[in-house]
Amino acid sequence: MSMLMPNLIAVMLRGLCRRCPRCGVGQVFNGYLTIEDVCPHCQESFEGIRTDDAAPWATILLLGHIMAPIVMIVVKLDISTLPLTIIMVGLEFLLALGILPVMKGLFVGLNWRFNIRDGKPVLD
Ligand SMILES: [Zn+2]
Repeated sequence: MSMLMPNLIAVMLRGLCRRCPRCGVGQVFNGYLTIEDVCPHCQESFEGIRTDDAAPWATILLLGHIMAPIVMIVVKLDISTLPLTIIMVGLEFLLALGILPVMKGLFVGLNWRFNIRDGKPVLD
């Protein structure tokens, strides 16, 4: 199957949607974070693509920017410490679980776009 190389923005958007960076149809993940060997739709290989610490790093960075204003608002409310802690930890946990696969999809797409396999750029 012949397909043109999609532009960087399309690849990033497809990655954020956890879709194949090439066709945008197939799912990149088999489960929560396990990368498929090949795209189930276009058979593009994802062999050697790994994101290492990039996805958790980006998740923490984004989560910090989401949580900081929330914390600044919530501490002004008169809520006792224990319920406040439970709510904030629970919220942060759920947000982290939601953001992590999105960030991993983004980095899978970027690694695919720049042909980075096993952490190194592959020159054709
Ligand atoms: Zn595909």
